[in-house]
Amino acid sequence: MSSSTEITTAQKSHSTTALLLGSGELGKEVAIELMRLGVKVVACDRYDNAPAMQVSSEHAVLDMKDKTALTALIHQVQPDFVIPEIEAIATDTLLELEEKEGLKVIPSAKAVNFTMNREAIRTLAAKELDLPTSPYFFASSVKEIHEQISKVGFPCIMKPVMSSSGKGQSTLKSEDDIEKAFEYACTEGRGHESRVIVEGFVKFDREITLLTVSAIDGIHFCEPIGHRQENGDYRESWQPEPLEDEVLIECKRISSRVVKALGGFGIFGVELFICGKSVIFSELSPRPHDTGMVTLISQNLSEFALHARALLGLPIGEIKNFGPAASAAILVKGHGNKLCYQGLSEALATCPNGSLRIFGKPEVNGERRMGVALALGDTIQDATQKACQIRDSIKITVEEE
Ligand code: AMP
Repeated sequence: MSSSTEITTAQKSHSTTALLLGSGELGKEVAIELMRLGVKVVACDRYDNAPAMQVSSEHAVLDMKDKTALTALIHQVQPDFVIPEIEAIATDTLLELEEKEGLKVIPSAKAVNFTMNREAIRTLAAKELDLPTSPYFFASSVKEIHEQISKVGFPCIMKPVMSSSGKGQSTLKSEDDIEKAFEYACTEGRGHESRVIVEGFVKFDREITLLTVSAIDGIHFCEPIGHRQENGDYRESWQPEPLEDEVLIECKRISSRVVKALGGFGIFGVELFICGKSVIFSELSPRPHDTGMVTLISQNLSEFALHARALLGLPIGEIKNFGPAASAAILVKGHGNKLCYQGLSEALATCPNGSLRIFGKPEVNGERRMGVALALGDTIQDATQKACQIRDSIKITVEEE
């Protein structure tokens, strides 16, 4: 283990600087953890006043898919670390700058590149690493889908290769659903690519996130996180999800193999399906995971603190869990930029062991995640119920200013 990490703070010439690409709620918590360690954070997003910008030293507004603009920003900021928080970034530019100029991308440009494309990460997991996955194929036209559909059968799930969190995703029951699902995937996919993955439907008992930290002092795991999704988006998560010893060992084996193959230091959210005693790899994020927000209350080091430590080359030491805990996403529907949060006192009074994060998003257009309710409990059911109680007490009004 090397002890070579040095941080220079608040210098005129050069302070240790992290460039955050994406400034949502996960980035905001990463920024806070880095700032606590004296790191200067430059938060970037395509819109102004994004959550992480509100807690960072400096900010920049630009389209991170624009290669020229991204390169110019990196050259101007001269960051010690580039930390992608979202997938909609010109990741090939990061790869190029890593190779040519030694840019340090967290956890690695390879990890960021592979995970923004379902084709790359699935091929790595299934073919190169021989990890268990759902049956699947890739296709670029309705004709190709008809030709290959027997590989997976029905029901199956179609997803754009460039997408995340259920975006552009459909469940198909018969051949009649193919055309509509393909059109939907093509319009909703990032970059509007007409390439999809079609996966056999996994009748899982549970789905979990195994937060896996790759750091200077080795690979560390958080307790497994169980979660409930609606339309591919997380609603509640809880920790620790109880797993039989042999199932947990298999989860750790799969996670550490894929994390090591992607390389670099940082936290990864590995998504796994549990079917009886079998474990199936689904996908992973090379950064903190939304279901992992539960760690804001459940652990001595949250997933954000772990990411900050790991990327700075600092040792993790011991991750301590405080017992059953849960998170519930606070969503709102509406249109407007005048937002008011009410019911906060009632929410926290109902649950003395509860906590709350309000992300500070400046506007809503449709449905948006605005905060998260957190609770400890006697059991995971108790904690989840309390987190939901806090969530349900919060009322958000949205108006146009
Ligand atoms: P993803 O964007 O791939 O994480 O998918 C979003 C959610 O859709 C997952 O969390 C699962 O609940 C569900 N899902 C994705 N792939 C499958 C599959 N092959 N079989 C069953 N459910 C799936």
